[in-house]
Amino acid sequence: MKSATPAPAKNDCYLAIEIGGTKLQVVAGTAEGRFVDRGRFNVSAASGAEGIRAELSATLLALIEKHQPRAIGVGYGGPINWRTGRIVKSYHVAGWQGFPLGQWLAELSKLPVFVENDANVAALGEALVGAGRGCSPVFYVTVGSGVGGEIGHITVERAGIRCGCGNRGCLETVATDSAFVREMSHLLGKSVGINEAIDVIRSGRVGSAAVVERTVDYMAIAVAAVINVFNPSTLFLHGKLLGSDQAIFDRVLAEAGRRTLKPSFADCRILQSQGNKRLGAVAGIIRNLADEMAPSMAWFEPGGAKTISAPGGE
Ligand SMILES: [Zn+2]
Repeated sequence: MKSATPAPAKNDCYLAIEIGGTKLQVVAGTAEGRFVDRGRFNVSAASGAEGIRAELSATLLALIEKHQPRAIGVGYGGPINWRTGRIVKSYHVAGWQGFPLGQWLAELSKLPVFVENDANVAALGEALVGAGRGCSPVFYVTVGSGVGGEIGHITVERAGIRCGCGNRGCLETVATDSAFVREMSHLLGKSVGINEAIDVIRSGRVGSAAVVERTVDYMAIAVAAVINVFNPSTLFLHGKLLGSDQAIFDRVLAEAGRRTLKPSFADCRILQSQGNKRLGAVAGIIRNLADEMAPSMAWFEPGGAKTISAPGGE
């Protein structure tokens, strides 16, 4: 479907909701990924999930009233079961755990709703309407709090620290912004956040170089694993440490090159996700809602019905 800049039909509108640790936004857009409106607010952890839901309800209902959208897609910043629509947990805000987000939104909006983890929808966004358009296969690795996908749970340290999955020494316990922050906190003798940790390495403080080098090495191992296993034509990387300094990104690439099968590495274009993970995410949702291109999707319908379409037979 490659029509040239069609005038959107009156109801060619979808809503995408991004629920992050610190921000929440609702975007209205067309099937072509053109944004037409948005509402956003900061998430106050103190008000809990219930407070956030109250604010989300108001923003959402106002946008529905205004744009008459056809459906809603959600990128949730944490583990969520797309089949049941339930949040598995929140790393930031109390009161989300086990919450039936898909069903709740369907009841509230009287629209079909699709929910996914935000890293997965960001991958869809890049693949379908971002820099990965027309390339296949596209792989997206986020190295923020976890290494996206199952690759993150490959054991790389035999007696490493305990991972959220129950295993020890998983790749994502060492190859992430979270791992970097943990080690920097240890080094500094106080708890710091990612931005403060990056400021410390920028200041060139003695001792942090080893922490950076270690994180870079493990991130390179993650990249090499993805390329060796999946042989993607395009690989997007997303993370705060990676994005903080081109030299760090280049070091990860160089080290990954040494650890990857040469032909696969040569064939793979490695890009930094355009920093706008959020826009990629919502664009991907919108496009998918429109085209139903996802291999399998669970839709939550108002009234409690749920439809799963799985042409790929997952
Ligand atoms: Zn694990």
